[in-house]
Amino acid sequence: MENKYTSSKLNGMLDKLEKDKYINIQETIELGLKVYSASSEENYEKGMAFALLCIGRVYLNLSKYEEAMIYLFDSIKLSDKNDMCDLQLLAYINIGNIYFDIEQDEKSLEYYNSAEKIAKTFDNSENHYKNRCVESYIAIIYNNIGEIYRILKCYEDAISYYNLSVNIESKLNYQATFGMVLTNLGHIQYQLGNYESALEYLNKSIFFLLEYDYKIGIAEAYGILALIYEKKSKYLECEKYFLKALDTLSDIDYIYSRIDLLLDFSSFLDHIEKRSEAIAKLDEVYSISIKNKLYAKTMEICKRAIALYERANDTYNANRYYKYHFENEEKLESIKLKNRVRSLKTKIQLDSLEEENKRILEKSEILRRKADDLKEIIKNISIIGELGEKITTTLELGHIYEMLHHTIQNFMYANDFGIALYNDKKRTIEYQYLIENNVRNDMHEVSFNNEASLAVKCLKENRIIVINDMNNEYLNYVDTLNYSTSNKENYELKSAIYCPLTIDNNLIGVITAQAYKKNSFTMIAVEMMKALSSYAAIAINNAIKSKNLIVEVEQRRKVQIQLQDTNKKLVYLSENDGLTGIPNRRKFDSFILEEWNKAKENKSIISIIIFDIDCFKQYNDNYGHIYGDSCLIKISKELSKSLVKGYFAARYGGDEFVIVLPHTSLNEAKRYGENFRLNVQKLSLVHKFSKVSDIVTVTLGVSSAIPSNESTIIEFIREADFALYEAKNKGRNQIVHFNFK
Ligand code: GH3
Ligand code: MG
Repeated sequence: MENKYTSSKLNGMLDKLEKDKYINIQETIELGLKVYSASSEENYEKGMAFALLCIGRVYLNLSKYEEAMIYLFDSIKLSDKNDMCDLQLLAYINIGNIYFDIEQDEKSLEYYNSAEKIAKTFDNSENHYKNRCVESYIAIIYNNIGEIYRILKCYEDAISYYNLSVNIESKLNYQATFGMVLTNLGHIQYQLGNYESALEYLNKSIFFLLEYDYKIGIAEAYGILALIYEKKSKYLECEKYFLKALDTLSDIDYIYSRIDLLLDFSSFLDHIEKRSEAIAKLDEVYSISIKNKLYAKTMEICKRAIALYERANDTYNANRYYKYHFENEEKLESIKLKNRVRSLKTKIQLDSLEEENKRILEKSEILRRKADDLKEIIKNISIIGELGEKITTTLELGHIYEMLHHTIQNFMYANDFGIALYNDKKRTIEYQYLIENNVRNDMHEVSFNNEASLAVKCLKENRIIVINDMNNEYLNYVDTLNYSTSNKENYELKSAIYCPLTIDNNLIGVITAQAYKKNSFTMIAVEMMKALSSYAAIAINNAIKSKNLIVEVEQRRKVQIQLQDTNKKLVYLSENDGLTGIPNRRKFDSFILEEWNKAKENKSIISIIIFDIDCFKQYNDNYGHIYGDSCLIKISKELSKSLVKGYFAARYGGDEFVIVLPHTSLNEAKRYGENFRLNVQKLSLVHKFSKVSDIVTVTLGVSSAIPSNESTIIEFIREADFALYEAKNKGRNQIVHFNFK
């Protein structure tokens, strides 16, 4: 809106309009209309409002009250729409001035009071006069109320209002109005005959008015000064001030002041017996008055002229003015008639304008209330926004419920608050969180088939239920047959909201707030509840999901541990011999490969012993398989016992066992093997059927190597096997090492 034209040229025009508004009436109206049309072209309503106010004020000064009223009300409409308190307030003051001029004091006071009311809600943000404060307007209002009392001759009241205005002005140092109030105070003192005091006020007022160059005001003050000096018989001073007053008005198009001044001046001249000059002034004022068709004024002038001429024994001129008087009387009669019609029309028009104005004000009031509602909504939205941020940072249901409850308390009054979750399996809704009159209640369930439950109804139909008068509205929602009447009558709750919690059409649950008073929930509260419920649904859904996830994760972890256990067992089973519990051939294969490679890398020595139980077939055949097994277990235990750190033993198969001895030389290995053989003997396991002895014995073959690229594990094992074979051949129950030669 504030484009180049508006801000530069238009603002220049507005400034000129402001400056010249009291100087030249016709020019001000023309400029005002120009500003109005330029502003409306630019759709600049603030400029339009100001132009209309200025034109209205000029029409008021011309006593053209209907026009003034129309322009002022049009200005009010625009300034109200654009929140321009100051222009609105000034228009009200001017309408008060109109009623003051047409002597409707009560109405005048009414408008001044309205202006004061606007002043009390004054907001400077959109105003036309950026630097003017509200007090300066109140000073004008008090001055004008003082004027009403002065006209009604209630001088005390008038003075006290003027003084209120002066007090404000003296603080603000706002000179134009201050000067006017001082003039008015001077005028009262003159009327009361307190000439000294009046002089004091007027001299002060002129000082301020001159500074402001407010010519109408200056002329008025000079005029009163002239009257005071006349009363004090200081005729030279008196004449001087009349002339000064007329001079001040000379370049101003303001006939009313001029006529009154000339009449007073003429009376003064008559008083000091300058009769011909007095008559000359009357002739002058007569021509102005008749030119402006001010017939009543003209008749008053005629009367004075007749009196003057008669006293001068000038019958010719006296008769001339009688004739004028008569002519004017006739005109005045017809004008009076016209005026009666006009005033009737004016009254009708004023009434309709007033009516319209009232409508505007009512509309403004509605808009203001709407604005208040919107402010409240914005405040609440920020509350909900904050909640949205907080509530999604927790996965703890209890915490979520508390946050929701706390937030709801921020924007509505509710005695009860509850959150119920829908259980699809059980077909119930379960109240997880229920506060009744500030007391937390136990969880309880409601069947999804319960037709009397508003919560169920709300969820089934997936829509918000708002009740503001429970006794009358309850039956709109639920079936009367399913709800006992006694219960209904005793129903304490008068207002209730039930809002479904859903996500992607999935029912999560319901949130409810209830109050013991009727009409507890405003439209805003309902809207807020809706907004809140969408956050609530997301947060609750997330929390439930996470809870389920925790359970799932826990179950998975258990299964995992079981699997790990099983795997451990399986690994054990796959690596150990089922009968003896010592490592089996598979484990031996991987162990020997690893140790062989290590030894190869470190170029270190490694030894291996293979041993076999002597004549075990006979043992089995004679003592039975179970004894055979037991013998195998005992030998294995002895073997395990004999192992030193780093050594490894396994059941190689059948009655054959193998021992791996890393970092062990052939001699050490032989010593170790021999020791083991003796230990087996010490077990003294009876074997009556052995060829070797009458106890169980073992035969061992040993071999050593420093692994290299030329040697292999298979050869290494075979060498031990050869040694064992040799030991068997040599008669068993002994240890033989592989001969490298
Ligand atoms: P040698 O002194 O030459 O070793 O004579 P031997 O009788 O031990 O001869 P051989 O090694 O051929 O016999 C092994 C016997 O070990 C055959 C079988 O009856 C017995 N045997 C093999 N595995 C088991 C087993 O798991 N339990 C039992 N009770 N006996 C087994
Ligand atoms: Mg054997």
